[in-house]
Amino acid sequence: CGIVGYVGERSAVDVVMGGLRRLEYRGYDSGGVALVADGTIASAKKAGKLVNLDAELEAAPLPHATTGIGHTRWATHGGPTDRNAHPHLDDTARVAIVHNGIIENFAELREEIERSGRELVSETDSEVVAFLVAEQLAAGAALPDAVRTVARRLEGAFTLVICDAQTPGVVVGARRNSPLVVGRGDGENFLGSDVAAFIEYTREAVELGQDQVVVITADDITVTDFDGAPAETTTFTVDWDL
Ligand code: GLU
Repeated sequence: CGIVGYVGERSAVDVVMGGLRRLEYRGYDSGGVALVADGTIASAKKAGKLVNLDAELEAAPLPHATTGIGHTRWATHGGPTDRNAHPHLDDTARVAIVHNGIIENFAELREEIERSGRELVSETDSEVVAFLVAEQLAAGAALPDAVRTVARRLEGAFTLVICDAQTPGVVVGARRNSPLVVGRGDGENFLGSDVAAFIEYTREAVELGQDQVVVITADDITVTDFDGAPAETTTFTVDWDL
C-alpha cells in the first residue's frame, strides 16, 4: 500500500524505512526493502508491522547501499506471509520489484514463465513482473527499456518500482491507474506512492501522468510514456506541514 524508492548518497535503507514509516497511516500487512549493493540485490521482508522488519534488519543487517526500494503491502493475491511480502526477486536474483495494485492478467503471465521452466515462489500477482523484467535484461535490454516493454504487457492497476543489481544508481518506476510521485532533491531523488514518502528530504515534487515510466538517478529524472517518448509532467511544491 506504500512504496518508496531512493537514489543518492545517504544510506538507502534508512531513507526507505523512514519513508515506509511515514506511509504507515495508509494501512498494510507486511513490509520489505531491497538495496543494490556491489552488483547484488540485498533484501529483507517480513509479515506484520514494520517493527518486525526493523528487528530482522537488526538481526541481519543489509550491506551499505545508496540505491534502494521499499514496500508496505495490503495483500490482494496470496495471504500476508513473509514469502508473499514484497520486494519480489526473479530466480536469478538480479531484479527486485515492489508493486501496489492488481495485475489482472497475472495468471497467463505466470503460466508463460512456468512453461519456460522457471519457478515462482509466491502466490502474488506481482512476482511475475520481476521475472519478465529479468528476461528482458538477460536478452540485452537496458533497465528502462526492459520496464517499458513489460509495462506494455500488464493489465490492471499498478505502481511499480524496480531496481537491477547490474544497474547501480538507478531506480525505475511505472504507473497505471495507481499513484506515483517523484521527489526532486539535490544530488538525490526519490519515488513515493505519495509525497509523505520523501517530505522529510524535499518539497519539490513531480506528479506522473497515466501510463508513464520514470527513471531516477542521483542527478536526473527522466519521464517517458510506455513507448519511450518524452512525457509531460507537472512539478509542484508540497506546502503542507509534517
Ligand atoms: N496485489 C499485490 C499483492 O497482493 C500488491 C498489493 C498492494 O497494493 O500492496 O501482493
